[in-house]
Amino acid sequence: MRPGGAELFDSYNPATGEVIARTPLSRASDVDAAVAAARAAFEGWRETPVVQRARILFHFHQKLEQHFDELVRIVTTNQGKTLAEARGSLQRTIENVEVACAGPSLLMGGYGLENVGSRGVDSHVVRQPLGVCAIITPFNFPAMVPMMFLPYALVSGNTAVVKPSEQVPLIQRRVAELLLECDLPPGVLNVVNGGREAVEALCDHPDVRAVSFVGSSPVARAVYRRATHAGKRAQCFGGAKNLVVVMPDVNLDDAIRSIAESFFVCAGQRCLAASVMVPVGEVHAEARDRMVALAQGYRLGDGAVEGTTMGPVVTGLARDRIVGMIDRSASAGVPLALDGRTARVADRPDGFFVGPTIFDEVSADVEIGTEEVFGPVAVIAPVKTLEDAFTLMHRIPKANAAAIFTSSGKAAREFSHRATAPMVGVNIGVPAPMAYFPFGGARESFFGDTKAHGRAGFDFFTEQKQTIYRWT
Ligand code: NAD
Repeated sequence: MRPGGAELFDSYNPATGEVIARTPLSRASDVDAAVAAARAAFEGWRETPVVQRARILFHFHQKLEQHFDELVRIVTTNQGKTLAEARGSLQRTIENVEVACAGPSLLMGGYGLENVGSRGVDSHVVRQPLGVCAIITPFNFPAMVPMMFLPYALVSGNTAVVKPSEQVPLIQRRVAELLLECDLPPGVLNVVNGGREAVEALCDHPDVRAVSFVGSSPVARAVYRRATHAGKRAQCFGGAKNLVVVMPDVNLDDAIRSIAESFFVCAGQRCLAASVMVPVGEVHAEARDRMVALAQGYRLGDGAVEGTTMGPVVTGLARDRIVGMIDRSASAGVPLALDGRTARVADRPDGFFVGPTIFDEVSADVEIGTEEVFGPVAVIAPVKTLEDAFTLMHRIPKANAAAIFTSSGKAAREFSHRATAPMVGVNIGVPAPMAYFPFGGARESFFGDTKAHGRAGFDFFTEQKQTIYRWT
């Protein structure tokens, strides 16, 4: 439904540059209507036995599998991922639904005690839903990121308002249609489109009890402040600048292949992507040369065409922003080992393409060394020792993920112990926690205290209520 009179925002197929949808930029009044529907549905939904709530998710899981190829196509067409990348993201989407299906077991309060304090006084704890939960998500994983929250919220007995990225609105609309086909009662799930106004209205609304946000760090910080100021529970996941350390003892073949994938898959638009490769000691020159050779092998093109290994970035604005960052760093004298600014795709002349780009000899004193690019731009920052790599890491305020490639257990242990980021890979380029583990960063990459998915998801979306009994 298009909210009355809302301004429309163009949404593209990034591979062709065509406008394929127009997203209504919902206003506060539209948010009010969605929250009112969610609020009205809450009492009935929280009283619905958890097994019945979980059964709806089982059914939803089936729908996602049945419509897998259709959903993959929507993600590719509206976001630009290659088909392989879109399939991977749909798989992760489904895995989150699977974990949430275990709600009847994972929601058990789990503890109680008799004779607490004095005889005849017993105590036990149960988990209860919070109420209306807002889920606000970015453009880069438009199917998966909302599902890092929504299934946990729903199975726990909450109702939800999802606000997907206005840049990539189509997939959540289809996903919501599939969920509603699973006999989800009206009002339990609501989708509002839009941008800042809708987000701020959700943060301010007195009937929204919790806010889950994923996006860039400045917006994550602002949303966290606004939502918590309004007395809500909030978890706000921000941007990233992930370091990948390469020790001289490593098998470079395996390491550089894995790191190149981390840099360039999804055209670098992943919060767990490598941003800065840090070769330690004499491995630098060979690591750089291999990285350049691998990067030159990516086949840039329309993600919907089988065989494409790197798709476009999400919009023309994103392309201009990324190229602008490359321009500034190149003008500041940072050596370019590979320049993707002029890359073109012959049969997609209007697509938003940036080719793989590699800067070498980067220090933490330049913009490209510390700021998130969120595009296919690799930064190489050579250091002499592992200790120097930690010094560099501490100068980067974001701390989402970090990885080390080494054959030394001692170096791996040291890295895991001291990394500022809480998602750490050892010989893994993208240390993405599976859906049954907690997900989230630290410092400027995460504002809040309870992470996403797995058991942490159930913690975030429930209140632990303790009752103390005395029957005389
Ligand atoms: P974004 O911050 O521009 O937008 C995210 C959401 O916030 C969208 O729904 C958008 O409509 C809304 N929004 C935008 N500006 C706003 C404002 N001023 N006030 C209130 N709401 C606003 O992010 P994006 O460009 O869509 O996504 C890319 C960013 O997301 C990158 O920084 C990336 O690292 C980050 N990200 C982080 C994670 C993580 O888990 N930490 C995961 C995916 C993406």
